[in-house]
Amino acid sequence: MPPEQTIYVTRPHLPPLAEVAKLLEGVWERRILTNGGPLHQQLEEELAAYLGVKHLALVANGTLALLIALKALRLQGEVITTPFSFVATSEALSWNGLEPVFADIDPHTYCLDPASIEACITPRTTAILPVHCYGFPCDVEAIQRIADDYNLKVIYDAAHAFGVDCHCGSLLQHGDFSVLSFHATKVFNTFEGGAIICPDARTKKRIDRLKNFGFVDELTVAANGINAKMSELHAAVGLAQLPGMEQSVTERRRVAELYLRELAGVPGLILPSYDQALRPNYAYMPVRVTPEAAVNREGLVEQLRSHGVVSRRYFHPLIPEFQYYRSNSSAGPARYPVATKASAEVLCLPIYPDLADATVQRICGIVRTVLDP
Ligand SMILES: *Cc1c(COP(=O)(O)O)cnc(C)c1O
Repeated sequence: MPPEQTIYVTRPHLPPLAEVAKLLEGVWERRILTNGGPLHQQLEEELAAYLGVKHLALVANGTLALLIALKALRLQGEVITTPFSFVATSEALSWNGLEPVFADIDPHTYCLDPASIEACITPRTTAILPVHCYGFPCDVEAIQRIADDYNLKVIYDAAHAFGVDCHCGSLLQHGDFSVLSFHATKVFNTFEGGAIICPDARTKKRIDRLKNFGFVDELTVAANGINAKMSELHAAVGLAQLPGMEQSVTERRRVAELYLRELAGVPGLILPSYDQALRPNYAYMPVRVTPEAAVNREGLVEQLRSHGVVSRRYFHPLIPEFQYYRSNSSAGPARYPVATKASAEVLCLPIYPDLADATVQRICGIVRTVLDP
């Protein structure tokens, strides 16, 4: 890889163009372009089988998936969520007229800390919206215990957790809903897309109506629906993409393991750990630049950038630090000290299936030179 070529934190994985074209020939013949066409139905079935879940509804993107899942639960009041996520997690709450309440995260998994969730519960709390951050599983058992004790719903933002397991099968089976994103930057992509994992067939039917304007039949609109349908074009990309997924995750694992070997023992740098038993998807490579390091996180970002390597500070700023959320009554670093520290120290290094070993070695060489001069 010539040094002048910019390396981004991710590079979308694409299926063979000929496979997509083959599927699109059928679309051109049928003239069924959207509204639950045959490719859409086929992708729902194949994805459910691949992910080990029974009921899955495709949608146009992950944000709409969150919006609709929350809508389906007819929630009101406050929802406890994480400040350490992509802003869409909280925006889906705001669009539903729900108030995000920001709890703190676990320093190792970066997911909501159950003890912090419990401390945020008020009489107005109706649900919990955790994120399986970087694809690391939340403590789903502890979260379910809290939900049961306080009669709360749980919606998992699983945008990072495609294909990840927990100790009892698919991680995506937990909570009332799990929501996936198939955005270009995610492990599995349909350019834009998403899905809602539903607990049963009846719930999936409700989701299917909500994503189609709330239509029950031609003459009946029973809910405030929206248009969140996935088109046949996007479904074709997904269908062509799915057979390559095992290989794609294997390549990500190669990259992750090379980083872990090359960066082991660098002073002031904390590396992530992936639990092999849980079929990690290696969606991200989050390292932490601690105060003991020779330069801080911003210094490392600059050094990498000067060598053409674009790392990303996911998640900085924290959601409650964005102007729109600053007036939220739970906004303030004292409420989530662990997330505040993580937000100042975490750096996501480039990881994607066709990232060459030589490039990873070059990136690690820069990191070592900067942190271990
Ligand atoms: C990507 C992402 C979303 C939004 O998904 P889109 O498909 O881009 O709408 C939501 N939450 C998290 C944690 C994400 O990373």
